[in-house]
Amino acid sequence: MTAACSSVGRPKLKKLSPAQNNRLIMARIVQKFGGTSVAELDRIRAVAQRVKAEVDAGNQVAVVVSAMSGTTNQLVKWATDIGPVHDAREYDVIVATGEQVTVGLLAIALQNIGVDARSWLGWQIALQTDDIHSSARIKGIDVAQIEDRLMQGQVAVVAGFQGISPGGRVTTLGRGGSDTSAVALAAALNADRCDIYTDVDGVYTTDPRIMPKARKLDQITFEEMLEMASAGAKVLQTRSVAMAMRHKVHLQVLSSFSDEPGTLVIDEDDVMEEQKISGIAYSRDEAKVTLVSLPDQPGIAATVFGTLAEHHINVDMIVQSASADKQNTDITFSLGALDLDKAVDCLEAIKNKLGYQALVADPDMAKVSVIGTAMRSQPGIARTMFSVLAEKGINLHVISTSEIKISVLIDSDYTELAVRSLHDVFGLETA
Ligand code: ADP
Ligand code: ASP
Ligand code: MG
Repeated sequence: MTAACSSVGRPKLKKLSPAQNNRLIMARIVQKFGGTSVAELDRIRAVAQRVKAEVDAGNQVAVVVSAMSGTTNQLVKWATDIGPVHDAREYDVIVATGEQVTVGLLAIALQNIGVDARSWLGWQIALQTDDIHSSARIKGIDVAQIEDRLMQGQVAVVAGFQGISPGGRVTTLGRGGSDTSAVALAAALNADRCDIYTDVDGVYTTDPRIMPKARKLDQITFEEMLEMASAGAKVLQTRSVAMAMRHKVHLQVLSSFSDEPGTLVIDEDDVMEEQKISGIAYSRDEAKVTLVSLPDQPGIAATVFGTLAEHHINVDMIVQSASADKQNTDITFSLGALDLDKAVDCLEAIKNKLGYQALVADPDMAKVSVIGTAMRSQPGIARTMFSVLAEKGINLHVISTSEIKISVLIDSDYTELAVRSLHDVFGLETA
């Protein structure tokens, strides 16, 4: 982030002006409410009560909200169904509107219960991004105006997911991007806490929707959360975790439907416990491409992945088979299923240049990952993982590892079986 998004240097306890009745500010908090938390008017009224509780406790509060659940999906559908032309700038204009509705509604709900509040859209703040429409990156946030209002005791209700490009166009931050808006705002405001309210009461050992025995974690390190999120645990957008880690934002995930304590995302240095396996993540929307019999010579992989990058296609796992005859080799990679058609078109367009024999595409893949710092110190985790998947008859198409993660690409029909078996074999229910 640029200097515009830097912290503002603020003592923990500060006196308000006489207009605020000389109350002590206890903390500056960013609260983020996701789609299900603002799905209908009663839910928005309930959110307003949660915001009011923080204000009544003497805190300065900025709130980031998502669109009502289901709204963004509908907007995406309209933007894509209207016709074959895809203009990413207009797509963003359309899909950003969901959050405009919820900020206005929440501001009114707050006013109705006597809390001074106003809404802010991305361009009004301004939350500056680059111009990569539909997955823009935040460059800086000018928090001067919002800070002034917070100091006056007004609640800032900020539209998540959206910003403004250098050319003054509306941008969006990618699906789930309100988490990133909230963390960026918390960093820029030097907030004491960033509370992410959602429909589960914290981060679990795996998605509680497919594994009812999943256990809630009291805490998780930034590194583990980053791996969980990038492996598909959509409870936090990956970029929000990376940003919180970089800017040392105190992040917690909790439910807007209950008062249970949530999960704290913490620095590894603050962990007292021994290293362990903390979770299983999955992502179903994966696809696989194999380029069969490519010439085994320098520059081929660079051409394949360079072409995909030029078309903004993110590739995840990659394997190149050993070339027995030193003449030909196969390259297999995984990517988001939504990008599959585009990737196939790009690679077929350069078939002659690459000289491969065949391109095999499979749209029905899933990635299942085991995550935990235990991998740094305990041998045998990969063996346990592969053995249990083999016992269940699950074929592994691609394997990739990081320091604290092992991921496998499997047929998507086996996703739940794989997640449940791994959750059991690593004893996560009771760990
Ligand atoms: P919001 O609309 O509040 O942003 P999301 O739907 O983006 O909420 O994220 C919350 C969902 O993340 C949960 O409903 C849950 O199904 C899913 N999820 C996936 N993995 C996990 C996990 N390990 N812990 C908690 N929730 C998870
Ligand atoms: N409304 C956006 C989405 O559905 C952003 C978000 O909810 O975080 O992706
Ligand atoms: Mg989300």
